Amino acid sequence: MNPEIQIYLDGNLVPASQAKVSVYDHGFLYGDGVFEGLRIYNRRVFRLDAHLERLYRSAKAIWLDPPLSQSEMRSAIEKTVAANKLENGYIRTIFSRGFGDLGLDPRKCPKPTTVIIADAIKLYPAEVYEEGMECITVATRRSRPDVLNPAIKSLNYLNNILAKIECIRAGVPECIMLNDAGLVAECSGDNIFIVHEDLRGRRELRTPPVSAGILEGITRDAVMELAESLGIPCVEKNMSLFDLYAAKEAFLTGTAAEVVPVTRLDMREIGDGKPGEITQKLMSAYSELRNSEGNPAF
Ligand code: PMP
Repeated sequence: MNPEIQIYLDGNLVPASQAKVSVYDHGFLYGDGVFEGLRIYNRRVFRLDAHLERLYRSAKAIWLDPPLSQSEMRSAIEKTVAANKLENGYIRTIFSRGFGDLGLDPRKCPKPTTVIIADAIKLYPAEVYEEGMECITVATRRSRPDVLNPAIKSLNYLNNILAKIECIRAGVPECIMLNDAGLVAECSGDNIFIVHEDLRGRRELRTPPVSAGILEGITRDAVMELAESLGIPCVEKNMSLFDLYAAKEAFLTGTAAEVVPVTRLDMREIGDGKPGEITQKLMSAYSELRNSEGNPAF
């Protein structure tokens, strides 16, 4: 944490060392709130509107009425980026239920807390982008959508953290999480794609549908859009682990991770164990897109 960074907290920009939230905030007491993670490339906030849309959708799903309109939040994010003169970095936005009492009742929290942090980001080491990443399938299943829907980007990330701990203990950076039906859902903090080849040698991209119980990733969406413009067929389709083990290529997508080739899963090689041709094409198309899209925030 850089104490000099200016944090947006409930309408004011304050130095990080003074940006404090109450222990009675229900975001802290209960994980009651929603968040987003965004990236800044060349002073531009990547896909800001899509992130705002998802943030406000998540808020609506948990009956949280943000204290700022979507366009006010847009300005607040840009103001925070500009105040920190951040050319490249990461933004975390949070709406928590706010200060309340020790009970669950959100009516005791008169005003949601708004936080915007714009800071540097540490990516995976360069080798994983060049050589590919190893993943495992974890025992922790992704939350059932009818219990706590993964489409809501809520502050309640314990399900993902338990999966992350399994990754750490296995010595790998990411994992595959299955849903309650045993189908592939997503990673602990990323979405998953494969390149499937049919018996006649035709290849297509496949990624689980949102109905499998996943977060509708903004990087996922950008990659699907890029695939379309590059003429690579792409379908949202339920998959089993067999489909992943038999895939020609696999990669994961996320705001922080971007596009990462997955070359080993559960001690098996994916394809020939090297980042595939379609994966590499999409990696470079994505880096071109993120460097050119949008307007500078300052
Ligand atoms: N799934 C989960 C569980 C996530 O937390 C994230 C974001 N880190 C993603 C997928 C990827 O979404 P996005 O591309 O919007 O960052």
